[in-house]
Amino acid sequence: MEHIDKIYIDGAFVTPHGEEWFELFNPATEAVIGKVRLADAEDARRAIAAARRAFASFSLTSKEERIALLERMHDAVAAREDELFEAIVDEYGAPTSRARWMAKYAAGTIAEAAKVLRAYDFTRRAGTAEVVMQALGVAGLITPWNSNGGFICGKLAAAIAAGCTAVIKPSEMSAIQTRIVTEALHEAGLPAGVFNIVTGRGETVGAEISAHPDVAKISFTGSTAVGKTILRTGAETLKRVTLELGGKSPMLILDDADFAEAVPLALQAGFMNSGQACIAGTRILVPQSRVAEFEDRVRDEIVRMPAGDPRDPLTQIGPMVSRKQWERVQRYIRIGIDEGARLIAGGEGRPDNAQRGWFVKPTVFSDVRNDMTIAREEIFGPVLSIIAYRDTEEALAIANDTSYGLQAYVVSADAARARSVAARIDAGRVLVNTLAHEPAAPFGGFKQSGIGREHGTFGLEAFMEPKSLLGVN
Ligand code: NAD
Repeated sequence: MEHIDKIYIDGAFVTPHGEEWFELFNPATEAVIGKVRLADAEDARRAIAAARRAFASFSLTSKEERIALLERMHDAVAAREDELFEAIVDEYGAPTSRARWMAKYAAGTIAEAAKVLRAYDFTRRAGTAEVVMQALGVAGLITPWNSNGGFICGKLAAAIAAGCTAVIKPSEMSAIQTRIVTEALHEAGLPAGVFNIVTGRGETVGAEISAHPDVAKISFTGSTAVGKTILRTGAETLKRVTLELGGKSPMLILDDADFAEAVPLALQAGFMNSGQACIAGTRILVPQSRVAEFEDRVRDEIVRMPAGDPRDPLTQIGPMVSRKQWERVQRYIRIGIDEGARLIAGGEGRPDNAQRGWFVKPTVFSDVRNDMTIAREEIFGPVLSIIAYRDTEEALAIANDTSYGLQAYVVSADAARARSVAARIDAGRVLVNTLAHEPAAPFGGFKQSGIGREHGTFGLEAFMEPKSLLGVN
């Protein structure tokens, strides 16, 4: 049983001013596994004040000093990989293969930031001027529960590489991951106040960070609805924002695709992270003439993707993070049925092997039209829609007919053709015949999937402002 009663401000673990206790659950068993004492707005203000004090000297550190800090942070977080892995499985039921990837990702993202910083030149010429990239100030970093450790590390590493100090508001639902990462970062020995971690509710701590005049920048990952609230709140002080929001990504299967490869790839992309992934390929676009063949293969393949105990190595799909999320996914399955989509796998209720835990049957609908609710709204569970198209033009029109634009997938036997299709999709990332991640490439959304980019040079520059110096040479 975890008992987390400290937050981290100004280089020290301190008792929060906030007095609310929040329960942590294991979603695979529904058992309470811990309690966390939440920070409040007063704690957020103390953390912001500490970060502001630290910024005065931290913004003057050299690139080499910050690279050395990032290396220490990396080593400290990497040393906690196994502990983080256990927390990820217990705290939100990620299947072990996914949890291992995420536990490594947390340290990996710090190593990536160090690599980007090593290669980055903070000055450049523009005509007669010298342009200097300058750290923005105090950054507010707000993370979701579905990859909390990774997002804390990735956002903080980019902020530090730029020379910013940070106040981090992690998801209150992932406090065990936060505790482990905080301890590791403390051991890395960063100067006091450079990073502060205040686990609390979004409406209090998150809102305070979004409104506070001493916060220059918000980097937020979470839902589109909350992203809009942060943008509105931050507008008062014209905060710079990076918003990584929701998605309804198309998986565009071209008519020449080999279904022996395309179907497993589509299901993996859709059921990634138990369907609780912003980049999940949830709208599967299949040529009309081959829909029956695709459905048959889905029925065969889906039995190899069971939902169940996340610690069983055969499990591909773990539970939903909370009862609320389970109920929300059930509601979408009912809406799909009511709106006339045809179930070809899964459906309402728990899988037969799971009487307890917030498990959902891996569910695939066919005969879905792109104007149905299940094709338009982010479900955030293992529920996929097959949408038939007549020709490539119609496929592209359907792919782009969404308010989102985070990621898209194209599957084809012809790489050149796939590339030309990819060029016409409005999404921040398009993956052609692959599910691989590229940490050096920018990541972020078109349209209501967000504003700005993370990772690589774009992610670093999101924490800086260009300043032009004229007459200096
Ligand atoms: P959420 O939006 O409910 O919460 C995200 C964070 O925002 C939490 O820390 C929460 O406490 C905080 N928050 C809530 N209200 C706030 C407010 N008024 N002001 C400031 N902060 C507030 O999202 P979630 O349920 O934790 O995560 C799932 C969502 O995140 C999905 O929509 C998913 O698509 C999205 N997501 C996006 C990406 C991406 O990179 N684009 C990655 C992962 C998840």
